[in-house]
Amino acid sequence: MTRTVEVDYLVIGAGAAGMAFTDALIDHRDARVGLVDRRRGVGGHWREAYPFVRLHQASMFYGVASTVLGGELQVDGPEAGLHQRADQTAITAYYDRVLAERMVGPGRVELFAGCDYLGDRTFVSLDTGERYAVPEHCRVVDARYLAPEIPAETPPRFAVGDGVRVVPVNDLVAAGPDERHYVVVGSGKTATDAIVWLLTHGTDPDAICWVRPREPWMLNRALVQPDAATYLGMVADLMAAAAAGSSLDDVFCRLEDSGIMLRIDRAVTPTMAKAPTLGTWELDLLRSVTHVVRRGRIRSVRRGHLDLDDGSVPVADDALVVNCAADGLKNPPRVPIWRPEVITVQPVRAGFPCFGAALTGYVEATRDDDTDKNRLCPPSSYGNTLVQWAEMNVLGMRASASFGAEPDIADWARGVALNPARIPPDHPGSPALDDALARLQAHTGPGLARLAELAGLG
Ligand SMILES: Cc1cc2nc3c(=O)[nH]c(=O)nc-3n(C[C@H](O)[C@H](O)[C@H](O)COP(=O)(O)OP(=O)(O)OC[C@H]3O[C@@H](n4cnc5c(N)ncnc54)[C@H](O)[C@@H]3O)c2cc1C
Repeated sequence: MTRTVEVDYLVIGAGAAGMAFTDALIDHRDARVGLVDRRRGVGGHWREAYPFVRLHQASMFYGVASTVLGGELQVDGPEAGLHQRADQTAITAYYDRVLAERMVGPGRVELFAGCDYLGDRTFVSLDTGERYAVPEHCRVVDARYLAPEIPAETPPRFAVGDGVRVVPVNDLVAAGPDERHYVVVGSGKTATDAIVWLLTHGTDPDAICWVRPREPWMLNRALVQPDAATYLGMVADLMAAAAAGSSLDDVFCRLEDSGIMLRIDRAVTPTMAKAPTLGTWELDLLRSVTHVVRRGRIRSVRRGHLDLDDGSVPVADDALVVNCAADGLKNPPRVPIWRPEVITVQPVRAGFPCFGAALTGYVEATRDDDTDKNRLCPPSSYGNTLVQWAEMNVLGMRASASFGAEPDIADWARGVALNPARIPPDHPGSPALDDALARLQAHTGPGLARLAELAGLG
């Protein structure tokens, strides 16, 4: 038997994207929502994250539009003066609270946790096998299109020989910082987190072999802050660097010179630009690991050897291999957000997926014509290669111009802390902000045009 669920929207995925969309939708339209997720609750991948994970950027930029996740500054430690970054416990507690107080409590949302969406407007309980369907008038929202893979749920993409110990990053704390040798696999945020955790827990840098298939560019966290003058000043400098760049490599080197981009090894030209933020204190720690293997991806691990795309390297027989490699930021094809059969949540401005999902929810709530909604909110995507990073910025800035031209959206976006580029309504103004805005005005046109050219966009 199939039970019909009487809702106006069925949102597939109760992670950051589904929660931000739903929150903004029900805040601005009288709609009932069914929220379905395979996991046992809301919060998406954070529920299975490694214990020492934190947001890589300020809490204020993450979560849902109605409820700020955290607005305080850090008072001590190496990031004193920067905005707080929530850890796993704080993030999952926040989503539980938003669900209870704003969604399920007021009777606007029904959560179907532990349920798998099967397609064709139906889903099934993984516990009882009960099937559910939604009526024809219900709009289906795909909020899992860009859901990241995480190491805890992704088996190693390399063969593992007898007697070799390979653990996902989640098991690193249980293994402890006292192994004699570690091999850390991956170039992204998870690998950098694992190395910083080891080094801040007393592991000798020489005990770590770091397999970095690609060299990453990362953003200086101090400049990606919820402060209008800092953030807009950074974007102005980014546009100035883009306008002057002779190639994308040159643009990134200019960004490094102006303190915006960071790379671990200044002797190597990075090819990866997912560009999470990094603290300069973390950069100093990462640079202390000197045994770096750059021979492509691992194909197999044998006792005492790593076999990679470009040859084999010896490692200690007893090394603990920590797998930090998974597809954290996905790059499937961009599709129109609104199609008759489905609303596919994707970023709209460059980066900041929670803002994109909330904006999509707001636009869905306040407009009826899908063609108009797609004109206002063309999708952007995430960075990966340098070209994709440039594309993301060009598409994201064009989209910002388009939705920002609508007075009600501009007003809404000014009041939402998830929006990094906002000048809050109560901002008193400052010479630093005036200077950032003047530079932005001067550099955006030429910077965007050059970036589009370098990204191969018309
Ligand atoms: C370690 C890490 C740190 C990050 N830090 C930041 C940060 O600081 N700032 C930032 O902006 N971004 C960050 N990101 C980027 C990441 O893209 C965002 O967290 C993003 O918003 C993820 O949310 P999501 O809803 O797209 O995916 P998820 O959180 O994965 O949610 C998607 C949900 O869909 C469910 N689902 C999938 N298929 C089905 C199905 N068939 N039926 C039912 N349910 C289904 C899944 O169970 C999942 O819970 C980070 C990513 C990682 C991995």
